[in-house]
Amino acid sequence: MAGKFDVVVIGAGPGGARAARRCAQRGASVALVEKEFIGGICLNWGCIPSKVLLASAHTLLSAKCAAEIGIDIVSATPNWPKIQQRKDAIVAGFRKAMTATAKAHKIKVITGWAVVTKPNQIKVESDGQSIEIEAERIILATGSEPVELANIPFDSQTVISSKEALSLPQIPKSMVIIGGGIIGCEMACVYAAMGTKVSIVEALSRLLPMEDEWVGRLIEREFKKLSIDSTTGVKVTSVDITATPTKVVLENGQAIEAEKVLVSVGRKPTVDKKIVEALNLKMKGPAIVVNEKMETNVPGVYAIGDVIGTTFLAHGATTEAEVAAANAAGSNRKMTDYGLIPRVIFTFPEVTSVGKSEDTCKAEGLDISVGKGFFKGNGRSVAHNNTVGQIRVIRDNSTNRIVGITMVGSIATEFAAFAATLIGLSPEKLGQITYPHPTISETIEDAVMDTFGPF
Ligand SMILES: Cc1cc2nc3c(=O)[nH]c(=O)nc-3n(C[C@H](O)[C@H](O)[C@H](O)COP(=O)(O)OP(=O)(O)OC[C@H]3O[C@@H](n4cnc5c(N)ncnc54)[C@H](O)[C@@H]3O)c2cc1C
Repeated sequence: MAGKFDVVVIGAGPGGARAARRCAQRGASVALVEKEFIGGICLNWGCIPSKVLLASAHTLLSAKCAAEIGIDIVSATPNWPKIQQRKDAIVAGFRKAMTATAKAHKIKVITGWAVVTKPNQIKVESDGQSIEIEAERIILATGSEPVELANIPFDSQTVISSKEALSLPQIPKSMVIIGGGIIGCEMACVYAAMGTKVSIVEALSRLLPMEDEWVGRLIEREFKKLSIDSTTGVKVTSVDITATPTKVVLENGQAIEAEKVLVSVGRKPTVDKKIVEALNLKMKGPAIVVNEKMETNVPGVYAIGDVIGTTFLAHGATTEAEVAAANAAGSNRKMTDYGLIPRVIFTFPEVTSVGKSEDTCKAEGLDISVGKGFFKGNGRSVAHNNTVGQIRVIRDNSTNRIVGITMVGSIATEFAAFAATLIGLSPEKLGQITYPHPTISETIEDAVMDTFGPF
């Protein structure tokens, strides 16, 4: 036996890394097993690299319209190798920082493929070598993988997932993105800004179908300004990679030519089958089933993050990690309301929403009033030449409380946590908030006042 730990965490993404740290801070001896890179999808092929590329794309677009606010820039062009190098350096820097944090908390980081053999025994395989470790409790944080379309398999060259899309050697001339969800729309912004001819094909009736109708329509309209073509309500039937250029055929008979085809139709939980079998884990499809304490059907074995198929968001994983870590250390903590976990989309413009959407409220038959605030009337937004978008605040008339907020606009994601704090506040408390002037946040005040009137 190579080691005995109070807690062994499998998977060092945001969920696993946070759980390991919190267990260690509570005095547990902790091992964190990772088969690839510390930081998981989020740091290496997800949140961080995509935001680095979006930052370059945003700067490029701002430079191109700088003349509108009195700054003449002779030319602004992307230096793709430098953008990629910067992204890789940022990712490497955070990996180093996470490794140092683990060390500082005396967490034993083990590189290798972990397989649970019994509820308290784990085999870790690496480079043909295998070690056994023992754990009082286990936290599974093995993440997710991109959904592959049966008729359009990934080939990592032409038909790619977001992983390859983040590291393309050159800016492609054209790209078809199958799937107008979060990842598809964010990557569309990156490549459209870089000069790629981007076409999105979404099977449902609008872009960002998880958000309210008006959000998808507004994003589609703004995407047109970036020369992104959006085809909604139509499926892709086949992709001919033998044609030059590759041909993407839609069910309406239309064919779109593209150098790259990004398939972004969602992600699915992933966990080694051997772990599921050895523990006899209760599953719902590919997702591990947990209770509100994040515990699986096996006492002492917890699961968090994408592998339980709840939010598919890094901050959803870390929130669940806090709960699992507390319980693994002997507390009796329950998961907070999932409705309070904000959803964030870093498109141009950004989208954030928290609580219930208007569609959900209508489906639940709630009596609601919707207040609106517009950035075109906001001093700071006008000063920055970023007046696109609006904020909608949904009030449940029966309780006189805010039940949902959606924002579309520049840096909207930065207000996600604040928006979450407004959900359920009494009108008296809402009326006590002072919004500094001139800030973008005053538009939230406008929307709140529009639905509540004077407090
Ligand atoms: C392009 C893209 C952009 C995204 N942007 C955002 C964003 O802006 N904001 C946001 O909140 N979310 C974003 N996400 C989602 C976010 O990345 C995930 O929700 C988050 O990474 C999930 O964290 P996790 O800890 O559950 O798993 P992961 O980050 O997937 O980590 C799981 C880890 O477990 C390891 N592992 C699996 N099995 C084993 C095993 N048997 N042994 C050892 N190790 C194992 C894997 O190698 C991996 O490192 C994005 C995702 C993508 C793909």
